Amino acid sequence: MNCESCGLPMEEAKDYGGSDMGNKYCKYCAPDSKLMSREQIKEGWIGYITKTENLSRKEAEGRVDEEMVKMPAWRK
Ligand SMILES: [Zn+2]
Repeated sequence: MNCESCGLPMEEAKDYGGSDMGNKYCKYCAPDSKLMSREQIKEGWIGYITKTENLSRKEAEGRVDEEMVKMPAWRK
C-alpha cells in the first residue's frame, strides 16, 4: 500500500503512521497517526527533494505542487 499523502510505499507496520497498518498515511506524513497539515507535509517534501535531487527551492516547490495534487489526500 502507498501513502495517500506522499505516495511512499509502506510495507511493514513501522512504515505506517503510528505503526498502525490500518493507517492510510506513512510515518513521515502522520508520525502520530494523524495526518499533518498540507503546509507541513509540503515543507518536508520540499526539503527532502532539494537534498536528494539537488533541486533549487523553486524547482522543488513546483515539483511538489504537481505531485501533491495527484495524491488522494490532497486531490481537489
Ligand atoms: Zn506519506
